[in-house]
Amino acid sequence: MDESQQLSEKIPEYTLNVKEDGATLHGMLKTAYVIDARFQDHIASPNHPERPERLGALLEMMKRYRREGLVKTEPRFASREELLSNHDRALVDEVAATAGRERHVFDTDTQASAASYETARLAVGGLLAIVDAIMGGKANNGFALVRPPGHHAEADRAMGFCFFNTVAIAARYLLQRYGIEKVLVVDWDVHHGNGTQRSFYAMSSVLYMSTHQYPHYPGTGALSDVGVADGLGYTVNLPFPAGFGDAEYALAFRRIVEPIGHEFKPEFVLISAGFDCHELDPLGDMHVTAEGFSAMTQALLTIAGEHAEGRCAAVLEGGYSVEALKDGVATVLGQMGGRRDAGKSPEPSAANAVIESIRKAHKRFWKI
Ligand SMILES: [Zn+2]
Repeated sequence: MDESQQLSEKIPEYTLNVKEDGATLHGMLKTAYVIDARFQDHIASPNHPERPERLGALLEMMKRYRREGLVKTEPRFASREELLSNHDRALVDEVAATAGRERHVFDTDTQASAASYETARLAVGGLLAIVDAIMGGKANNGFALVRPPGHHAEADRAMGFCFFNTVAIAARYLLQRYGIEKVLVVDWDVHHGNGTQRSFYAMSSVLYMSTHQYPHYPGTGALSDVGVADGLGYTVNLPFPAGFGDAEYALAFRRIVEPIGHEFKPEFVLISAGFDCHELDPLGDMHVTAEGFSAMTQALLTIAGEHAEGRCAAVLEGGYSVEALKDGVATVLGQMGGRRDAGKSPEPSAANAVIESIRKAHKRFWKI
Protein backbone atom coordinates (compact mmCIF):
# COMPACT_ATOMS: atom_id res chain seq x y z
CA MET A 1 0.00 0.00 0.00
CA ASP A 2 1.49 3.34 -0.90
CA GLU A 3 1.59 6.44 1.22
CA SER A 4 -1.32 8.18 -0.44
CA GLN A 5 -3.58 5.18 0.09
CA GLN A 6 -2.62 4.99 3.76
CA LEU A 7 -3.34 8.67 4.14
CA SER A 8 -6.63 8.35 2.35
CA GLU A 9 -7.81 5.74 4.82
CA LYS A 10 -6.83 7.80 7.83
CA ILE A 11 -8.45 11.12 7.09
CA PRO A 12 -12.05 10.82 5.91
CA GLU A 13 -13.08 14.44 6.02
CA TYR A 14 -13.94 15.39 2.47
CA THR A 15 -17.46 16.00 1.37
CA LEU A 16 -18.73 13.75 -1.38
CA ASN A 17 -21.01 15.83 -3.53
CA VAL A 18 -23.34 13.02 -4.48
CA LYS A 19 -27.00 13.65 -4.01
CA GLU A 20 -29.60 10.95 -3.51
CA ASP A 21 -33.15 12.16 -3.17
CA GLY A 22 -31.86 15.62 -2.48
CA ALA A 23 -29.59 14.56 0.36
CA THR A 24 -25.85 15.00 0.31
CA LEU A 25 -23.82 11.98 1.29
CA HIS A 26 -20.74 12.72 3.31
CA GLY A 27 -17.48 10.98 2.85
CA MET A 28 -14.06 11.40 1.39
CA LEU A 29 -13.44 12.03 -2.27
CA LYS A 30 -10.80 9.72 -3.68
CA THR A 31 -8.95 10.96 -6.71
CA ALA A 32 -7.03 8.52 -8.90
CA TYR A 33 -4.08 10.01 -10.72
CA VAL A 34 -1.68 8.73 -13.33
CA ILE A 35 1.79 10.12 -13.89
CA ASP A 36 4.85 8.25 -15.14
CA ALA A 37 8.40 9.16 -16.13
CA ARG A 38 7.83 7.34 -19.44
CA PHE A 39 5.58 10.19 -20.58
CA GLN A 40 8.79 12.14 -21.12
CA ASP A 41 10.00 9.69 -23.78
CA HIS A 42 8.19 11.27 -26.75
CA ILE A 43 10.30 14.05 -28.27
CA ALA A 44 8.44 16.11 -30.84
CA SER A 45 11.34 18.15 -32.27
CA PRO A 46 14.06 20.42 -30.89
CA ASN A 47 12.57 23.47 -29.12
CA HIS A 48 9.03 22.18 -29.56
CA PRO A 49 6.65 23.71 -26.97
CA GLU A 50 5.11 20.26 -26.27
CA ARG A 51 8.30 19.11 -24.59
CA PRO A 52 9.21 16.43 -22.04
CA GLU A 53 9.88 19.07 -19.37
CA ARG A 54 6.12 19.69 -19.13
CA LEU A 55 5.72 16.24 -17.63
CA GLY A 56 9.00 16.49 -15.72
CA ALA A 57 7.72 19.55 -13.87
CA LEU A 58 4.51 17.75 -12.95
CA LEU A 59 6.46 14.67 -11.80
CA GLU A 60 8.45 16.89 -9.46
CA MET A 61 5.32 18.64 -8.25
CA MET A 62 3.49 15.38 -7.56
CA LYS A 63 6.39 14.14 -5.41
CA ARG A 64 5.63 16.99 -3.04
CA TYR A 65 1.89 17.42 -3.56
CA ARG A 66 -0.10 16.35 -0.55
CA ARG A 67 -3.81 15.85 -0.45
CA GLU A 68 -5.79 13.21 1.34
CA GLY A 69 -7.51 10.67 -0.86
CA LEU A 70 -5.04 10.60 -3.75
CA VAL A 71 -4.80 7.14 -5.28
CA LYS A 72 -1.74 6.65 -7.48
CA THR A 73 -2.77 4.55 -10.46
CA GLU A 74 -0.52 2.72 -12.89
CA PRO A 75 -1.00 3.52 -16.58
CA ARG A 76 -1.22 0.68 -19.08
CA PHE A 77 -0.71 0.53 -22.82
CA ALA A 78 -3.94 0.97 -24.77
CA SER A 79 -4.57 -2.05 -26.97
CA ARG A 80 -4.73 -1.89 -30.75
CA GLU A 81 -8.47 -2.58 -30.52
CA GLU A 82 -8.91 0.37 -28.17
CA LEU A 83 -7.05 2.66 -30.60
CA LEU A 84 -9.16 1.31 -33.46
CA SER A 85 -12.35 2.18 -31.58
CA ASN A 86 -11.74 5.79 -32.65
CA HIS A 87 -9.11 5.66 -35.39
CA ASP A 88 -8.75 4.21 -38.85
CA ARG A 89 -6.48 1.24 -39.31
CA ALA A 90 -4.24 3.30 -41.62
CA LEU A 91 -3.52 5.92 -38.94
CA VAL A 92 -2.85 3.34 -36.20
CA ASP A 93 -0.49 1.53 -38.58
CA GLU A 94 1.24 4.77 -39.60
CA VAL A 95 1.89 5.77 -35.97
CA ALA A 96 2.91 2.20 -35.04
CA ALA A 97 5.42 2.19 -37.89
CA THR A 98 7.27 5.14 -36.30
CA ALA A 99 8.36 2.93 -33.37
CA GLY A 100 12.12 2.76 -33.17
CA ARG A 101 12.62 5.27 -35.97
CA GLU A 102 14.53 8.41 -35.21
CA ARG A 103 11.97 10.74 -36.76
CA HIS A 104 8.71 10.67 -38.67
CA VAL A 105 7.07 13.93 -39.72
CA PHE A 106 3.25 13.94 -39.80
CA ASP A 107 3.25 17.71 -40.21
CA THR A 108 5.51 20.54 -39.06
CA ASP A 109 3.88 20.59 -35.63
CA THR A 110 3.48 16.88 -35.22
CA GLN A 111 6.55 14.69 -35.32
CA ALA A 112 7.28 11.30 -33.85
CA SER A 113 10.52 10.12 -32.28
CA ALA A 114 11.50 6.49 -31.61
CA ALA A 115 9.35 6.18 -28.46
CA SER A 116 6.36 8.30 -29.52
CA TYR A 117 4.08 5.40 -30.45
CA GLU A 118 4.59 3.67 -27.11
CA THR A 119 4.25 6.96 -25.23
CA ALA A 120 1.00 7.81 -27.01
CA ARG A 121 -0.40 4.33 -26.31
CA LEU A 122 0.56 4.75 -22.65
CA ALA A 123 -1.15 8.15 -22.55
CA VAL A 124 -4.39 6.65 -23.83
CA GLY A 125 -4.05 3.71 -21.45
CA GLY A 126 -3.37 6.15 -18.62
CA LEU A 127 -6.81 7.69 -18.99
CA LEU A 128 -8.41 4.26 -19.46
CA ALA A 129 -6.78 3.17 -16.17
CA ILE A 130 -8.36 6.20 -14.48
CA VAL A 131 -11.74 5.28 -15.98
CA ASP A 132 -11.33 1.70 -14.71
CA ALA A 133 -10.43 2.97 -11.22
CA ILE A 134 -13.56 5.14 -11.13
CA MET A 135 -15.91 2.55 -12.64
CA GLY A 136 -14.44 -0.10 -10.34
CA GLY A 137 -15.16 2.00 -7.27
CA LYS A 138 -11.52 2.56 -6.34
CA ALA A 139 -11.86 6.32 -6.82
CA ASN A 140 -14.59 8.92 -7.22
CA ASN A 141 -12.78 10.92 -9.86
CA GLY A 142 -9.35 11.17 -11.43
CA PHE A 143 -6.76 12.97 -13.49
CA ALA A 144 -4.46 11.45 -16.13
CA LEU A 145 -1.27 13.55 -16.25
CA VAL A 146 0.00 12.36 -19.59
CA ARG A 147 1.58 13.45 -22.84
CA PRO A 148 1.40 13.64 -25.81
CA PRO A 149 -2.02 15.37 -25.83
CA GLY A 150 -4.88 13.99 -27.91
CA HIS A 151 -7.80 16.26 -28.75
CA HIS A 152 -6.59 17.35 -32.21
CA ALA A 153 -6.11 13.77 -33.45
CA GLU A 154 -8.82 12.83 -35.94
CA ALA A 155 -9.92 9.37 -36.96
CA ASP A 156 -7.51 9.34 -39.88
CA ARG A 157 -4.98 12.02 -39.01
CA ALA A 158 -2.32 12.88 -36.42
CA MET A 159 -2.03 16.65 -36.04
CA GLY A 160 -1.56 19.50 -33.56
CA PHE A 161 0.99 17.60 -31.39
CA CYS A 162 -1.53 14.71 -31.10
CA PHE A 163 -1.38 11.11 -32.40
CA PHE A 164 -4.34 9.36 -30.78
CA ASN A 165 -7.41 11.07 -29.35
CA THR A 166 -7.18 10.02 -25.73
CA VAL A 167 -10.42 11.61 -24.51
CA ALA A 168 -12.42 10.29 -27.49
CA ILE A 169 -11.10 6.76 -26.94
CA ALA A 170 -12.05 7.03 -23.27
CA ALA A 171 -15.59 8.13 -24.21
CA ARG A 172 -15.92 5.16 -26.57
CA TYR A 173 -14.52 2.85 -23.87
CA LEU A 174 -17.21 4.06 -21.45
CA LEU A 175 -19.93 3.39 -24.03
CA GLN A 176 -18.61 0.03 -25.16
CA ARG A 177 -16.97 -1.50 -22.10
CA TYR A 178 -19.21 -0.16 -19.37
CA GLY A 179 -22.51 0.37 -21.15
CA ILE A 180 -22.59 4.06 -20.19
CA GLU A 181 -25.19 5.79 -22.37
CA LYS A 182 -24.34 9.47 -21.95
CA VAL A 183 -20.87 10.98 -21.71
CA LEU A 184 -20.22 14.70 -21.35
CA VAL A 185 -16.85 15.88 -22.69
CA VAL A 186 -15.89 19.42 -21.73
CA ASP A 187 -12.74 20.81 -23.36
CA TRP A 188 -11.32 24.02 -21.90
CA ASP A 189 -8.00 23.86 -23.75
CA VAL A 190 -7.40 27.19 -25.53
CA HIS A 191 -7.52 25.33 -28.86
CA HIS A 192 -10.63 23.73 -30.30
CA GLY A 193 -10.66 19.94 -30.06
CA ASN A 194 -11.37 19.33 -33.73
CA GLY A 195 -10.67 15.60 -33.41
CA THR A 196 -13.07 15.10 -30.54
CA GLN A 197 -15.79 17.13 -32.23
CA ARG A 198 -15.51 15.08 -35.41
CA SER A 199 -15.53 11.78 -33.54
CA PHE A 200 -18.96 12.43 -32.06
CA TYR A 201 -20.48 14.93 -34.50
CA ALA A 202 -23.36 12.64 -35.48
CA MET A 203 -23.91 11.04 -32.06
CA SER A 204 -26.18 12.05 -29.18
CA SER A 205 -24.52 9.76 -26.63
CA VAL A 206 -21.47 12.00 -26.36
CA LEU A 207 -22.07 15.72 -25.79
CA TYR A 208 -19.00 17.76 -26.67
CA MET A 209 -18.67 21.30 -25.28
CA SER A 210 -15.56 23.36 -25.98
CA THR A 211 -14.39 26.80 -24.90
CA HIS A 212 -11.60 28.03 -27.15
CA GLN A 213 -9.89 31.09 -28.54
CA TYR A 214 -11.37 31.83 -31.94
CA PRO A 215 -10.15 32.35 -34.54
CA HIS A 216 -7.05 30.39 -33.60
CA TYR A 217 -5.41 27.03 -34.35
CA PRO A 218 -6.78 24.70 -35.74
CA GLY A 219 -9.44 26.98 -37.23
CA THR A 220 -12.42 24.76 -36.38
CA GLY A 221 -14.98 25.24 -33.61
CA ALA A 222 -17.32 27.80 -35.15
CA LEU A 223 -20.50 28.68 -33.31
CA SER A 224 -22.51 27.27 -36.21
CA ASP A 225 -21.04 23.77 -35.77
CA VAL A 226 -23.83 22.16 -33.75
CA GLY A 227 -23.72 18.52 -34.87
CA VAL A 228 -25.62 16.59 -37.52
CA ALA A 229 -28.23 13.83 -37.69
CA ASP A 230 -28.60 12.18 -34.26
CA GLY A 231 -25.87 14.48 -33.02
CA LEU A 232 -27.73 17.68 -33.84
CA GLY A 233 -27.41 19.93 -30.77
CA TYR A 234 -24.78 17.69 -29.16
CA THR A 235 -21.80 19.78 -30.23
CA VAL A 236 -21.64 23.07 -28.35
CA ASN A 237 -18.85 25.44 -29.29
CA LEU A 238 -18.05 28.50 -27.23
CA PRO A 239 -15.66 30.45 -29.45
CA PHE A 240 -14.10 33.26 -27.40
CA PRO A 241 -12.18 36.31 -28.55
CA ALA A 242 -8.63 36.68 -27.20
CA GLY A 243 -8.43 38.21 -23.75
CA PHE A 244 -11.15 36.35 -21.86
CA GLY A 245 -10.28 35.54 -18.24
CA ASP A 246 -11.81 34.13 -15.08
CA ALA A 247 -14.93 36.30 -15.03
CA GLU A 248 -15.80 35.64 -18.67
CA TYR A 249 -15.22 31.88 -18.42
CA ALA A 250 -17.29 31.75 -15.22
CA LEU A 251 -20.13 33.64 -16.89
CA ALA A 252 -20.04 31.31 -19.91
CA PHE A 253 -20.12 28.28 -17.66
CA ARG A 254 -23.03 29.68 -15.65
CA ARG A 255 -25.12 30.64 -18.67
CA ILE A 256 -24.24 27.87 -21.16
CA VAL A 257 -22.09 24.95 -19.98
CA GLU A 258 -23.79 24.31 -16.64
CA PRO A 259 -27.45 24.43 -17.75
CA ILE A 260 -26.77 22.29 -20.84
CA GLY A 261 -24.67 19.86 -18.80
CA HIS A 262 -27.41 19.45 -16.21
CA GLU A 263 -30.13 19.07 -18.85
CA PHE A 264 -28.07 16.37 -20.63
CA LYS A 265 -27.73 14.37 -17.37
CA PRO A 266 -24.43 12.65 -18.18
CA GLU A 267 -23.46 9.37 -16.57
CA PHE A 268 -19.79 10.26 -16.78
CA VAL A 269 -17.95 13.58 -17.23
CA LEU A 270 -14.64 13.78 -19.09
CA ILE A 271 -12.52 16.93 -19.09
CA SER A 272 -10.00 17.76 -21.81
CA ALA A 273 -7.93 19.83 -19.41
CA GLY A 274 -5.56 22.04 -21.33
CA PHE A 275 -3.85 24.80 -19.40
CA ASP A 276 -2.92 26.91 -22.40
CA CYS A 277 -5.82 29.26 -21.60
CA HIS A 278 -3.81 30.22 -18.47
CA GLU A 279 -2.61 33.81 -18.37
CA LEU A 280 1.04 32.68 -18.41
CA ASP A 281 0.77 30.46 -21.50
CA PRO A 282 2.95 31.42 -24.47
CA LEU A 283 0.62 29.94 -27.14
CA GLY A 284 -2.74 31.28 -25.96
CA ASP A 285 -4.01 34.81 -25.41
CA MET A 286 -6.43 34.13 -22.56
CA HIS A 287 -6.16 35.20 -18.92
CA VAL A 288 -7.51 32.29 -16.90
CA THR A 289 -5.91 31.81 -13.45
CA ALA A 290 -6.28 29.25 -10.69
CA GLU A 291 -9.55 30.92 -9.73
CA GLY A 292 -11.03 30.21 -13.17
CA PHE A 293 -9.86 26.58 -13.25
CA SER A 294 -11.26 26.16 -9.77
CA ALA A 295 -14.68 27.48 -10.80
CA MET A 296 -14.82 25.39 -13.98
CA THR A 297 -13.78 22.20 -12.17
CA GLN A 298 -16.29 22.85 -9.43
CA ALA A 299 -19.11 23.35 -11.95
CA LEU A 300 -18.27 20.09 -13.75
CA LEU A 301 -17.92 18.15 -10.49
CA THR A 302 -21.35 19.44 -9.49
CA ILE A 303 -22.83 18.14 -12.77
CA ALA A 304 -21.07 14.80 -12.17
CA GLY A 305 -22.24 14.77 -8.56
CA GLU A 306 -25.87 15.34 -9.43
CA HIS A 307 -26.17 13.00 -12.40
CA ALA A 308 -23.17 10.65 -12.56
CA GLU A 309 -22.50 9.61 -8.95
CA GLY A 310 -19.55 11.99 -9.04
CA ARG A 311 -17.77 10.15 -11.86
CA CYS A 312 -15.41 12.62 -13.53
CA ALA A 313 -12.02 12.11 -15.18
CA ALA A 314 -9.70 14.79 -16.54
CA VAL A 315 -6.88 14.30 -19.00
CA LEU A 316 -4.04 16.73 -19.61
CA GLU A 317 -4.13 18.29 -23.08
CA GLY A 318 -2.06 21.42 -23.80
CA GLY A 319 -0.37 23.95 -21.53
CA TYR A 320 3.10 25.21 -22.41
CA SER A 321 4.16 27.22 -19.37
CA VAL A 322 5.33 24.84 -16.66
CA GLU A 323 4.26 27.32 -13.99
CA ALA A 324 0.77 27.48 -15.47
CA LEU A 325 0.65 23.69 -15.69
CA LYS A 326 1.58 23.21 -12.05
CA ASP A 327 -0.87 25.91 -10.98
CA GLY A 328 -3.71 24.44 -13.03
CA VAL A 329 -3.12 20.78 -12.16
CA ALA A 330 -2.82 21.50 -8.42
CA THR A 331 -6.03 23.52 -8.57
CA VAL A 332 -8.01 20.79 -10.34
CA LEU A 333 -6.71 18.09 -7.98
CA GLY A 334 -7.65 20.24 -4.99
CA GLN A 335 -11.18 20.70 -6.31
CA MET A 336 -11.48 16.98 -7.03
CA GLY A 337 -10.79 16.30 -3.36
CA GLY A 338 -13.88 18.17 -2.38
CA ARG A 339 -12.36 21.57 -1.76
CA ARG A 340 -14.94 24.26 -2.31
CA ASP A 341 -13.55 27.74 -2.80
CA ALA A 342 -16.14 30.45 -2.56
CA GLY A 343 -14.73 32.23 -5.58
CA LYS A 344 -15.75 35.68 -6.72
CA SER A 345 -19.08 35.91 -8.44
CA PRO A 346 -18.66 36.91 -12.06
CA GLU A 347 -18.85 40.63 -12.60
CA PRO A 348 -20.74 42.09 -15.53
CA SER A 349 -18.30 42.11 -18.37
CA ALA A 350 -17.85 42.73 -22.02
CA ALA A 351 -18.45 39.01 -22.46
CA ASN A 352 -22.19 39.46 -22.28
CA ALA A 353 -22.69 40.03 -26.01
CA VAL A 354 -20.47 37.07 -26.96
CA ILE A 355 -22.21 34.75 -24.53
CA GLU A 356 -25.64 35.93 -25.64
CA SER A 357 -24.79 35.03 -29.25
CA ILE A 358 -23.71 31.56 -28.09
CA ARG A 359 -26.97 31.17 -26.16
CA LYS A 360 -28.99 32.13 -29.23
CA ALA A 361 -27.20 29.52 -31.35
CA HIS A 362 -28.15 26.72 -28.93
CA LYS A 363 -31.46 27.72 -27.39
CA ARG A 364 -33.37 25.70 -29.99
CA PHE A 365 -31.73 22.56 -28.58
CA TRP A 366 -31.46 23.31 -24.86
CA LYS A 367 -33.33 25.22 -22.15
CA ILE A 368 -30.88 28.10 -21.90
ZN1 LIG B 1 -4.12 23.59 -26.72
